[in-house]
Amino acid sequence: MPSDHTIPLSVPVLTGNEWTYVKDCLESKWLSSAGPFVDRFEAEFAARLGIDHAVATVNGTAALHVALQVVGVRPGDVVLVSDLTFIAPVNAIRYLGAEPVLVDAAPDTWQMDVDRVAAYLDGCCERTQGGTVERATGRRVKAVLPVYILGHPVDMEPLLALARTWDLVVVEDATEALGARYRGRPAGTLGHIACFSFNGNKVITTGGGGMIATPDPALASQARHLTTQAKADPVEYVHDAVGYNYRLPNVLAALGCAQLEDLDNRLVAKRRIADHYAKGLAGIDGLSLMTEAPWAESACWLSAVRVDGDRFGMDSRALLARLASDGIQARPLWEPMHRSVPHRSCRVLGGGTADRLFADALSLPSSPDLTPDAQDQVIAAVRTAENTVRSAAAEGLRA
Ligand SMILES: *Cc1c(COP(=O)(O)O)cnc(C)c1O
Repeated sequence: MPSDHTIPLSVPVLTGNEWTYVKDCLESKWLSSAGPFVDRFEAEFAARLGIDHAVATVNGTAALHVALQVVGVRPGDVVLVSDLTFIAPVNAIRYLGAEPVLVDAAPDTWQMDVDRVAAYLDGCCERTQGGTVERATGRRVKAVLPVYILGHPVDMEPLLALARTWDLVVVEDATEALGARYRGRPAGTLGHIACFSFNGNKVITTGGGGMIATPDPALASQARHLTTQAKADPVEYVHDAVGYNYRLPNVLAALGCAQLEDLDNRLVAKRRIADHYAKGLAGIDGLSLMTEAPWAESACWLSAVRVDGDRFGMDSRALLARLASDGIQARPLWEPMHRSVPHRSCRVLGGGTADRLFADALSLPSSPDLTPDAQDQVIAAVRTAENTVRSAAAEGLRA
């Protein structure tokens, strides 16, 4: 998103074939949801992920909505989802009348705490003929929706094992993690179905856009059907279900094709930025960067730091304001879903880690075209803030 800050959090990069492909679209008059770039974007995206099927959607939220519907989430079902996340996946569960059960973040990875999922299933659920049900409520536990926040995967091996044992569908929210890997396997190819977003600040962007990826041909064809108004005939206006107008327009798919060509450069840039922050901000008392688990290769979507207010001498919001006054845009993480107005009545498994990360963490400027000089300004601004509080504290002692 363009921003008033001199150094914004994350802005799109459009330096490849975007103009050429969009011009093709305009000249061919293929603008809306039928058109060659939609098919091409889907095919190239699927090939890039190494998965059989990809279905382009108007945005990532629509992708989540349809993905949950086609895997069979029904009103009243329980879906386990990350508590510390952008709100979209939790909203999508609610669109279907299902019940999100919010899972706290793990303190080391900041991602869904798989141990909490295990404790809930073992402690509260049982297997029946009709699937897994919660003993106390009789509700069916249908799916788990791990969200890969900030580009880093969830620890999927134990989660997939639980899903197999308890017969749960796994819907990956890989919207922030295009290009990430878990034990060598691409994020978005680990569960039954996965969702991506191409919003303005995501790893690649089409302005607005999304993708559903799945190895399952039946899920893919249902998703394609539902996202195109559930048309039952190519000519006649006859429909066989309540569908949605969720298909990505061709002109945006043209942007997507160009953006995808630049994905590898972008991942290199994002990692270089993360590494540079790690070096530049090392050794500051009370400040630590989000780390990468040994089994993960993060897409490094946004680099984030955690501020221990007592040790750093200033809390995250004070640092945020200091950086803003230097023209630098940082941003807190999301209010945990168990505190959000629309979802605060949902049950939460834990929640304390999500609360602490919400209080302490800030994302730092991470645009792929962030120059080393601009990044050094960010690092210098953090170090200046630190020095200011340290010398103020020393003054205080002398006085
Ligand atoms: C961006 C995002 C989405 C939604 O994508 P839109 O394209 O904005 O609808 C969903 N989940 C997460 C975690 C996101 O960051």
